[in-house]
Amino acid sequence: MRRNFLRFISLSIFTSLFLPLSTLFASTKKIINKNLTKKQKEIMFDEGTEKPFSSDLLKENRKGFYHCANCGNKLFASTSKFDSGTGWPSFSEALPGAFKTKIDYKFGMKRTEYHCAKCGVHHGHVFNDGPSKSGKRFCNNGLCLIFKPE
Ligand SMILES: [Zn+2]
Repeated sequence: MRRNFLRFISLSIFTSLFLPLSTLFASTKKIINKNLTKKQKEIMFDEGTEKPFSSDLLKENRKGFYHCANCGNKLFASTSKFDSGTGWPSFSEALPGAFKTKIDYKFGMKRTEYHCAKCGVHHGHVFNDGPSKSGKRFCNNGLCLIFKPE
């Protein structure tokens, strides 16, 4: 009797603590593009960061749109791209509804992490020191983006 009761209690604690978390993560982050490289997965699913000045997109100046490399969601217009000098592709604004954000305290800093609103994968951090009137600087890993010229 007592053992059953304890089992019931521990099971209900377990489900109330872990079930919402696991269902949340399972439903928000999914590999959609089966051709993602190991490095892309590390950034998108473990919030990694690519080496600065490593992205070919830094030199991309054509007109077009930047899409999520996992799900294809349209994220940035080329008109919002600027050279921040940081070594990562940078944008002054995202397309409406492209991203969701959360506060991240990694490395002892308070930063705003953002991720694709459609598939949930990590893209970068957004800062309030942008040069344009939006005041925003979206610092995006180039490996998470696919550029499609217009
Ligand atoms: Zn996506």
